[in-house]
Amino acid sequence: MHPFAYVAPKTVDEAVAVLEKHGDRARPIAGGTDLLVQARGGRWDLDAVVDIKTIPELVSIDNGSDGLTFGAGVPCYQLYENPELSSEYPGIMDAASLIGGIQIQSRAGLGGNLCNATPSGDGICPLIVHYATCVIAGPSGRRELPVEDFCTGPGQNALGSGEMLVSLKLPKPGSGFGAAYERFIPRNEMDIAVAGVAASVDLDSSGNIAKARVALASVGPTPILAEAAGGELAGKSADDESAIAAAGAAAAAAASPISDMRGTIEQRRHLVEVLTKRMVSKAIERARS
Ligand SMILES: Cc1cc2nc3c(=O)[nH]c(=O)nc-3n(C[C@H](O)[C@H](O)[C@H](O)COP(=O)(O)OP(=O)(O)OC[C@H]3O[C@@H](n4cnc5c(N)ncnc54)[C@H](O)[C@@H]3O)c2cc1C
Repeated sequence: MHPFAYVAPKTVDEAVAVLEKHGDRARPIAGGTDLLVQARGGRWDLDAVVDIKTIPELVSIDNGSDGLTFGAGVPCYQLYENPELSSEYPGIMDAASLIGGIQIQSRAGLGGNLCNATPSGDGICPLIVHYATCVIAGPSGRRELPVEDFCTGPGQNALGSGEMLVSLKLPKPGSGFGAAYERFIPRNEMDIAVAGVAASVDLDSSGNIAKARVALASVGPTPILAEAAGGELAGKSADDESAIAAAGAAAAAAASPISDMRGTIEQRRHLVEVLTKRMVSKAIERARS
């Protein structure tokens, strides 16, 4: 690892200009808990890191009547220590409070987790089931992209040259909304998910499921929005155990895991089915409370 410049821009335009100038030899840094490990390991040959946390928009949290917008540099602890956000965005809180440990959560955020784009990233599926959208800035201006379309392969994302993630926008959940995320790891913490599932439900005034989403971590080259699983739940009673079981089966079918040292294909599919049923039930329970 050779010396590289540390750039502290004050605006998104300044950051984009540096990223555009250096191309692959400059990377944004949020918490640095992935980037610095990877740079030391030789994945990046860097001339510069661009500290996004010096840009006010990238460290701000705005929870308005339309929904929540938080900057790509907001660390996990600032999300889960905010009581208002904890009750409104439960799936996000599940993720923010389990990534790494206290030290990691003090630096790292969901923006860096998403941009790192590992299939096992614990923050990505909860964003998907909260219907989150990425706000991206680049040399041609700004654009928006649903989170489920952001990851394009292991460690790869939809950002073009000179582009960066500015913020994540989540619509305001309705009163019948609930969400949950859980991963399976052999240890209690500080491990990479063998499989993870996030689920959300929107209950209508009669207590039926108006719509639902299920997203899967660590069981494919990217996080997976399992649309068929959500489809099994939409229009059904929230007490319909057979619909929840069907969602579990559909999620397992949507997974395309590999066998590796952390788990086999069969184990991962089984975990997806179990976790889907569990997360849908937990999302329903949260929606009711
Ligand atoms: C001890 C330890 C435990 C961990 N435990 C977990 C865990 O339980 N679950 C989990 O999912 N991860 C875990 N991680 C990985 C890591 O902490 C998370 O992925 C974290 O969320 C990354 O956030 P960050 O802010 O540190 O990102 P950074 O390291 O700053 O950035 C990550 C990547 O995204 C790019 N990037 C950052 N911000 C932007 C932006 N605004 N626009 C474009 N690109 C950007 C960077 O250039 C880099 O390539 C762990 C890491 C460590 C060291």
